[in-house]
Amino acid sequence: MEVEIATIGGYEEVGRQMTAVRAGDDVVVFDMGLNLSQVLIHDNVETERMHSLDLIDMGAIPDDRVMSDLEGDVQAIVPTHGHLDHIGAISKLAHRYDAPIVATPFTIELVKQQIQSEEKFGVQNDLKKMSAGETMSIGDSGNVELEFVHVTHSIIDAINPVLHTPEGAVVYGLDKRMDHSPVIEDPIDMKRFREIGREGEGVLAYIEDCTNAGRKGRTPSESVARRHLKDVMTSVEDYDGGIVATTFSSHISRVTSLVEFANDIGRQPVLLGRSMEKYSGTAERLGFVDFPDDLGMYGHRKSVDRTFKRIMNEGKEKFLPIVTGHQGEPRAMLTRMGRGETPYQLDDGDKVIFSARVIPEPTNEGQRYQSEKLLKMQGARIFDDIHVSGHLREEGHYEMLQALQPKHVIPAHQSMEGFAPYTKLAASQGYTLGRDLHVTRNGNMIQLTE
Ligand SMILES: [Zn+2]
Repeated sequence: MEVEIATIGGYEEVGRQMTAVRAGDDVVVFDMGLNLSQVLIHDNVETERMHSLDLIDMGAIPDDRVMSDLEGDVQAIVPTHGHLDHIGAISKLAHRYDAPIVATPFTIELVKQQIQSEEKFGVQNDLKKMSAGETMSIGDSGNVELEFVHVTHSIIDAINPVLHTPEGAVVYGLDKRMDHSPVIEDPIDMKRFREIGREGEGVLAYIEDCTNAGRKGRTPSESVARRHLKDVMTSVEDYDGGIVATTFSSHISRVTSLVEFANDIGRQPVLLGRSMEKYSGTAERLGFVDFPDDLGMYGHRKSVDRTFKRIMNEGKEKFLPIVTGHQGEPRAMLTRMGRGETPYQLDDGDKVIFSARVIPEPTNEGQRYQSEKLLKMQGARIFDDIHVSGHLREEGHYEMLQALQPKHVIPAHQSMEGFAPYTKLAASQGYTLGRDLHVTRNGNMIQLTE
């Protein structure tokens, strides 16, 4: 059977991920993501109303025109998890394919919300839920199967999809951390990866997330970030002024820890900001977390301001607002607090906890610098970098190669410079550039078997 891979997006940048795998007559698409920084760089761009081709020209979504060179029918569109660089282009591209969107329950819910907010296209694709550990057959040949393997990442319900073909398995390895003691959910299913590496024809190709390939050692577990956070929050337990925390809204484990420790230090947690309400509300509705009954979540400007007024009236020392704005996004809650645009007043000595790391990208770094400066001008004390990454480092990559023993390796989720450290690691493990180690670009085809 012919197996061919189209590397469509995310092979020259971190963002707008999209890869298609053709096995015989059947094609499966993995991810359809957005490159948010290409959107934010323009002032006041509302992607909801924009046409796909304009977004492609901006470099914001994958240029999927290469799909016409793949001779097969798309049978499924498979987003691996709910981050925007993996699902953010579904509302702009999925309607061009007559195929269901297949994802885990949490991811499907986020895809559904994204489709509902789309104003340009009517996206009618079926939405199919499939959980980690489950399989579905692809096409009519009877010998191509899709499997979801559970992985740990900075968002819940993430998977690595595996396409089983008669020539071996194609494992799509974006995005994960090898976490054996995550805070909520199960550990990564390494046992299954090792089995896949040894059963049948083994692994034909492994597409790997190179985000952190240049960092030595292993990525710490979420439980390490949790301990760090507990240490910081306990240290300010006796402070009788304002404490504010921020983190990734989609990082449900971290939000859960913040809520728990707020209660431990005698403060009432409250989630503020549109995306805080969206992700935590969804996770709770689907039963992934069980927040305290009195946990307030407010997204709309008016209800947020009402909550801030209540906090100012009842006393800042009784509350822990958990807000958006960890990257200094200009319209996020924490940035507005820094600019003094909310009823919440920061005083000398108030604490601001960033349970996040700045995404190393000039726009983010600049915005975050500005936001932090504004907070400090009001006397805030900053607690930074209380975070672990969601992506594998060097030893994680090594372990994945050991587990899967793939015939071909395709680095992804980075720029050309970012591929270099992974390429070095793969070469040290016997792979040869141009033969079985494929450093590629957006819009290329890799023919694996004839
Ligand atoms: Zn991700």
